[in-house]
Amino acid sequence: MSRVIALAMQKGGVGKTTTALSLGTALAARGRRVLLIDIDPQANLTQGFGVDPSQLEYSVYEVLLNPERGSAFATIRVDEGVDLIPSSLLLAGAELELAGRVGRELLLRKALRTAHETYDYILIDPPPSLGLFSLNALAAAHRVLVPLQLHAYALKAMPQLEQTIDLVREINPDLAIGGILCTLADRRTGLSHEIERQVRERYGSLVFHTVIPMNIKLAEAPTAGMPIHRYAPGSAGAQAYRALADELESRLIH
Ligand code: ADP
Ligand code: MG
Repeated sequence: MSRVIALAMQKGGVGKTTTALSLGTALAARGRRVLLIDIDPQANLTQGFGVDPSQLEYSVYEVLLNPERGSAFATIRVDEGVDLIPSSLLLAGAELELAGRVGRELLLRKALRTAHETYDYILIDPPPSLGLFSLNALAAAHRVLVPLQLHAYALKAMPQLEQTIDLVREINPDLAIGGILCTLADRRTGLSHEIERQVRERYGSLVFHTVIPMNIKLAEAPTAGMPIHRYAPGSAGAQAYRALADELESRLIH
């Protein structure tokens, strides 16, 4: 039975996509079978693997439109032990197309039914806005992994996310935050440390010990279309995501 983890934070640029990609590949390097799902019309996760979203036969768009077909038909292999359901340009129109459909929040959940035996982890990367795609991600997930950017207003976005999770519990009763990940830490300033201290004080053991530093290699890797463990395996960013994979497995997010 796979563990389905949705990245979530109703804010862009906090490291959701970077975490889905880098954590997913780090889990695969530990021998886990990983499925990544790009359910963001911006297709950053898809492009991060060097996949051109305009050249795809199938994507998450067809999966949402035909959930009874399962998800395997739209799944591509992107790295050793890592499969991806890519996003495509068509996805942008899907929200309108599906507007009248009953159960439209549950389409991804339904499509993934047959994937649970194939994977140890399924990581879902939604867009920053709370629309149909984020709802599908949260409705399909067991746990939410929250990347929290260590800047002055880091904690401000949390109440809104907690409200959203409460709302989604009406259709997915066991949904809970599985972990909070401090990202984009700038060790040169005292501010990151101070915010980190506040986050730990407020959320205690929910916060991963591992902190993801600001690391230029993590920002460059998507441009090269490569996961960090290939682009710069020795970088601080790659090391941090390896440590996160270890920690996730040891403490899990059960
Ligand atoms: P989100 O998916 O939440 O919008 P991304 O993962 O796309 O966020 O990250 C936003 C931008 O910051 C991207 O350009 C990404 O490459 C960069 N980035 C993410 N994490 C780091 C990091 N730890 N260090 C440096 N750059 C990062
Ligand atoms: Mg993103």
